[in-house]
This record gives sequence, structure tokens and C-alpha cells, in this order.
Amino acid sequence: MRDGCFLYVTDRGLAHLLVTMRGYAAITFGHVIISAREPSDGLWLHERRHVEQYERIGLAFIPLYLWFMLRRGYRTHPFERDASGAARLFD
Ligand SMILES: [Zn+2]
Repeated sequence: MRDGCFLYVTDRGLAHLLVTMRGYAAITFGHVIISAREPSDGLWLHERRHVEQYERIGLAFIPLYLWFMLRRGYRTHPFERDASGAARLFD
């Protein structure tokens, strides 16, 4: 447990494959963060922002995330831009 989140670090198995098969370092589902390695401070802040997004929009996060990913891709995805500090969706 860290900062009220369950952090699962794995370097093997299905969870590791789920994270890395698209080139990600970590994936967040609600308050559960699955990471392919011990997260750096920057990665931790990024994933914690995704947790805050889940807290704001609940389970709508998943379909909205996928919809924006299909429409815009990763780099201009509003949730990713928000998590990276490039553009805030909410305070
Ligand atoms: Zn992200």
C-alpha cells in the first residue's frame, strides 16, 4: 500500500504482459496500480493522477479512456495530458 493505493509491481506473468504489451510502464484501475517496475517519482505522480481521474469520473474512466485512445492516441489523449501535467482537466 502506498498513498492509499495498492501498488503491484511485477516483472513476469499475465499482469506484466498486460502492462508491457503496449509499451506501458504501468496501468491504473481505480486505486490499484500495476507497474512493470518499481515506479520512479515521476511515474508514481502520473499514475496517482489517473487515480484522481477515477475518483472524479468513476467507472466511466474505462470507456472514456478507450474512446479517446481510439480517437486521439496516447500523446494527445486528454487523460494522459492531464496525468503528465501538460493540461489539467480539473483541479
Ligand atoms: Zn497515463
